[in-house]
Formats: sequence, C-alpha cells, structure tokens
Amino acid sequence: MLTRLRQIYEAGGWVLVESAVADLPADLRWLYESDAVTLPQLAAIHEATGATSTADLAAAAAEHRIRGEVGPEVEERIRAALPNLRALMPRIALGRAAAIAEPFLTALRAMPEVAWAEPTGSLRRGEDMIGDIDILAPASEPAPVFDALLRLPQSSRVLYRRERRIYLLSERSQVAVRVPEPSRAGGRLLYLTGSIGHVDALREHARTRGLTLGADGLAASDGTAMAAAAEDEIYRALDLPCIPVEIRQGNGEVAAAARGELPELVARRDIRGDLHMHSIYSDGRDAIETMVEASRALGYEYIAITDHSQRSAASHNLTVDDVHRQADEIAALRERFPDIAILHGCEVDILPDGRLDFVDQVLSRFDVVLASLHESAGQSPEQLLKRYGAAMQHPLVSIITHPSNRMVPHRRGYDIDYDRLFELAVETETIVEVDGAPGHLDLDGALARRAVAAGAMLVINSDCHRAELLDRQMTFGITMARRGWVEPRHVVNTRPLDAVRAAIVAKRSR
Ligand SMILES: [Zn+2]
Ligand SMILES: [Zn+2]
Repeated sequence: MLTRLRQIYEAGGWVLVESAVADLPADLRWLYESDAVTLPQLAAIHEATGATSTADLAAAAAEHRIRGEVGPEVEERIRAALPNLRALMPRIALGRAAAIAEPFLTALRAMPEVAWAEPTGSLRRGEDMIGDIDILAPASEPAPVFDALLRLPQSSRVLYRRERRIYLLSERSQVAVRVPEPSRAGGRLLYLTGSIGHVDALREHARTRGLTLGADGLAASDGTAMAAAAEDEIYRALDLPCIPVEIRQGNGEVAAAARGELPELVARRDIRGDLHMHSIYSDGRDAIETMVEASRALGYEYIAITDHSQRSAASHNLTVDDVHRQADEIAALRERFPDIAILHGCEVDILPDGRLDFVDQVLSRFDVVLASLHESAGQSPEQLLKRYGAAMQHPLVSIITHPSNRMVPHRRGYDIDYDRLFELAVETETIVEVDGAPGHLDLDGALARRAVAAGAMLVINSDCHRAELLDRQMTFGITMARRGWVEPRHVVNTRPLDAVRAAIVAKRSR
C-alpha cells in the first residue's frame, strides 16, 4: 500500500498531505484500503468537499456532493463502505484517548479566541474503544489557534493543515482539531458527535417537519441555513430536548425524546460517595490518608477503602494482620476527618471453588465486602457463573465488582449468562458494580442497561489506585452507566450513607 502510494506520489499525481503521503488522515487511508475508491477519486473528493474523516464523507455522500466528482456509482460504493470502514479501523481505548485529548482540550478552552472546545465522535459519546480523536473548537480566526496548538509539547508533528482544520501527531495517535465559524458550530458538533444512527434518526425527524439536517445543521425547505452556535438550538428547533451524548446510539433515543420519555440519566452531581478504592495496603500507590483527603476535596460524603484480599493476584495484598492495623488507622482518620464517613472494606477474591479469600470471622469485621474474580482458573462460563452465585449467596458479600472482568483493550469479558447473573443479584440482594477504571469500564453501557432492566441495584465506583485519578475514574464509570440509560434511582451511591448501610445490613441479616 505504501509503495503504491509512493509511486503515485512520485509520479506527481497527487499531493494531499504536505509532510508525507503515508500520513493521510486515517479515515481516508482506510477508505482507500477498503477498495471503494481509487486514489485519484479520493483526491478529487477531498479537493471538492474537503472531507478528511468518515463523518465528513458520510455527510458529503448523504448530500450527494460526491457524485459530481466521481459519479453516482462510486458515491454509492462509498456510502456502503463507510459502516464497515469503522469496524476495520484500529481503535484506541477510552482511557488512553481521553488522556491524549485532555491537554489539547485544556489548552483550547483557555484560549480567549476559542468559544468552547469539545471532543466529537465516539470519544464524546464515551464508547469504550475510540475511532479517532477529533476536537471541535470554534473561533473566528483559526490561525492563532493552530499556532498555539503547535507550541504545545504534546504536538509532535503536523500531519495536515488547511485553513480551518489541523491534524497533529501526539503520542503516536492522530489528533484532529477543527475550528469552525462560531455561528455554525452547533450543527458541526451535533453532526460530528454522531452516531450515524442517531443523526439518521434526527434527519428523519427533521424531514417530517419540512427541515433538512446536514453537516452544518438545519436548513429550511427553501435551502436557507439556520445558524446554530450551540447544539441545543438544533434540538429545540426540532421540538426535542437536548439528547445526552452518551445515549446518541441510534437506539430509540430520538423517538423516546419525541415522546417526552427520555430518562434523567445519573450524573456526577448525584454521586455521594465512592465504595471501591485501593491504598498502599494492597496495590494502591497512596496512603489511606491521601485517598481520604482527595475524596473530601471531591465533596464525597462517604468512601470505602477496599484493598485486595490475601491470595489475590495483585502485586501486594492485605494480610489478616494488616486488617487489624488498617482498622486502627481508619479509626484514627475518622477522628481527624469527621466530615467524611470512611468505611473499612475489602475487595475479596472469589476462589475457584466459590469460597471467599478471607474466613467469615475476618470478613465480618469489614463495614462492606466487595467480591470479585480476577482470573478464570480455566473454568467454563457455567463454572464461573456458579462461582459468582456462591459468592452472592454469602450474606457478607454486598457488591460484585467488575462483573465481566474484561481488560480493555486486551481481554474480552467472560462469556457468561449475564441475565442469570443479574437475576441472582436481585434474588440475593447483591449490588452489581459499574467500575470506572479505564482497564475495566465494567459493566459497560449495554450490560448496565440489562442489569437495570432485570431490577438489579448498581453501584458506580472508581476502583482507583491513585488519589489524583479518583475523579476521572468515577467520571468514566458514570459515562458507562449513562450509556446504559441508568438513572440515579438505580444507583446505591446516589443515596445517603444511612441508605447504603441499610442495604448492607438487610443482606447480612437475611
Ligand atoms: Zn478488582
Ligand atoms: Zn479494585
């Protein structure tokens, strides 16, 4: 592929990217590799429409702006290739993508000439695997914005630059920044955020009202564009509430919004405490005190310190002796910090035979017990489910953490019968976790939605191992829950401490 590109490049046929041909914006490269277009056709499309991403191409194809260059047949081929293109493209884990985007977003938001800055696409929707890092930052004058971006230490190279668009290389990933005219930026943000299914449903909804929705926003039937500086102006013009980004999945949300039946999704402000975090007693980096102080700064009413049990696979675990020392240390911290309740908990491993990694006498000393699998011990899905079932029957086990035990992006979750797992949770009054650690993101949105449908109670936790990440990992957990249409009433840690304690006691006294 590279050779072919270079041949064409050297033949002087086409220069799309100034620095190197291999640095084509990733989506164009993949469209080319899908065999939907030839390079000269791709060049013609790019020249005519300025398209550099799948979203641009989808818009151009939907509005028939490609056929003038390459004919209706190729336009149709591109339309057909686009959904599969996404599946072919390598994706980045959410945690890594968010970390790469963050310094760019922070810098853009601090620039006085930039109206606002938001990620778009799968990153903004909070998918666990991200297609591309594409940021929208409206400003009247793009040049100074780009110049400032190029001075960031995170910008290692320019891949592509046009008047209102730049592609940079940062940590070996492509970061795109688009700087549209502020008065039209709402339409762009809506369109680039997607998903394709969501935009299609909105376009259909617009059509029934005699309006057209395109890449730049709404237009009246006579073609007059309706300027929108913000997204909610477009939803309002369609008589819809602004649909939360996490549920823009083309999954019935537009119809639900039109009926006035959108759920009030759980949000950061609803969370009163964090019931899963580690300290130096196991594999955490920080002392309990540091975790407590960081949690107070976040405004939490309560937290639980939940280190790993003795035989866990973590690099360092809690021994029975440690449990006593830790209890004393927490008692002292409770006196020093009366404004936050510190629960002494643990994350106990469920052993291959379904027993727990501490005896009941030790477990009963904890205020809250979380139980988890960290391996599969070569067991079948049925055996794993039995193992979970045994732990959930235990009256001291209040929470099952990261139920699928996937490792993003390296390991898929267990292939167990989740509906049965959630039924068991309801039967045994066990709470199921949405874990916000970027390696877990577990339950994900789809499973969280099934858990709630089964009637299970959820908890959203950070599973944090370092104080400065408490907030970020809680936010990831909330994002997963929101993707699952989860409401505050489904989540135990939106409730006051008394209610959390009551749930623990209710199960213990079964
Ligand atoms: Zn764990
Ligand atoms: Zn943990």
